[in-house]
Amino acid sequence: MSVVVRFAPSPTGKLHVGNVRAALWNWLFARKTSGRFILRIDDTDCERSLPENEDAIRRDLRWLKLDWDETFNQSHRFAEYDKVADLLRARGLLYAAYETQEELERKRRVQRARGLPPVYDRAALQYTEEQLASFRKEGRKPHWRFKLSQKPVSWRDLIRGETTMDTAHLSDPVLIREDGMYLYTLPSCVDDIDYAVTHVIRGEDHNTNTAAQIEIMQAVIEARGRGRLPSFAHFSLLADAGGDKLSKRVGSLSVEAMREDGIEPAAVASFLAKLGTSEPIRPERDMLKLAREFDFDKASRAPARFDLAELEALNAKILHETPYAELSSRLAPLGVDERLWNAVRGNAARLSDAAVWKAVVDGPISPVIEDAAFAAKAASLVPEGPLGPESWSAFAAAVGRETGAKGKGLFRPLRLALTGAETGPEMSALFPLIGPDRARARLLGRRA
Ligand code: GLU
Repeated sequence: MSVVVRFAPSPTGKLHVGNVRAALWNWLFARKTSGRFILRIDDTDCERSLPENEDAIRRDLRWLKLDWDETFNQSHRFAEYDKVADLLRARGLLYAAYETQEELERKRRVQRARGLPPVYDRAALQYTEEQLASFRKEGRKPHWRFKLSQKPVSWRDLIRGETTMDTAHLSDPVLIREDGMYLYTLPSCVDDIDYAVTHVIRGEDHNTNTAAQIEIMQAVIEARGRGRLPSFAHFSLLADAGGDKLSKRVGSLSVEAMREDGIEPAAVASFLAKLGTSEPIRPERDMLKLAREFDFDKASRAPARFDLAELEALNAKILHETPYAELSSRLAPLGVDERLWNAVRGNAARLSDAAVWKAVVDGPISPVIEDAAFAAKAASLVPEGPLGPESWSAFAAAVGRETGAKGKGLFRPLRLALTGAETGPEMSALFPLIGPDRARARLLGRRA
């Protein structure tokens, strides 16, 4: 049986760290198993689903290098859902209910006051002919509920293990609203069957939906006489670095915001692939390697702590080891060539830092000179060009010899004069790029 998974975002908003993890884990598992990764757009909510969000989702996934083998929109499949709804109606598994929101709320209040769980009482199954006639006369439209078995449903979750949920404790889920709109549940069940999805991998916030979905899927499979149930894997949700529920600010951190902030896609993937697993987080640019390492058994049931500082540190590590060839399309427009990148990448926390160092190399910068005599002496010792990788140590040694300065007393004033900053990339790499003329001018205190 070959693996089929799906990532099913609702285009009511942008991709954020939470749902990108679902995308990534599905993708990793598909690639590991040479299976298929489907991008399904859950856009049955025609009012809240926006085409621009859908475009943004696709753009973000491409940026993350999460390519899909197939994609479709649920909004193109209403006819299929209608057919299934009819089949379920015919079997008495989808029933019309006429309560208004206020009536349902009132029922729940009464139940809570009596210490009972707020489970729908199935009053709709007992309507008399008169009641039905009066609803129709009032012009009320029904919503449609799926009739659960009210029995325990068990499945072996690939992350959470053996799980049982008694559907007697659940309200019969509403599948179709008064206005005819399909809620997420039925379309998702129908699609998972029709597209032969083998594994549903998603956050554990969906865990409570699973029992009802299993019953619905079973009913659909039986009614049509084909299809099979997928396996389920519910991963733990992200928490703050401190262990609290993920704050809104971080939880809604969008892929777009990360991209605009200069976070590399490989950093996002390396981070989210291992976060919440027993494996260490490390920089990995090879997505297929991440895929080969993916394993449900390594996923932890405890909440995964999301620390933005950790992602940023990983981003820097990724940049430090990325060769120019992989970034040339983004570095060349900044005027950064391979030599400059190799000189500064060890100091780049963001790709854009390369441009900052380019500006330092090219100048003009304001040199910082604390001891003019020392700096002037150093200026006189700058070798004629071109400078090479050995030039810096020879130059610094000569300055040390002539001035008696050593250690920090030697290197700090040279760096301050040549770059205007206390710290930065290796001077042996920067010095040849700055070149002898600018070096001399800066040591003489000139803006260059
Ligand atoms: N559209 C649903 C969501 O974004 C999909 C959930 C699922 O994976 O079944 O929450």
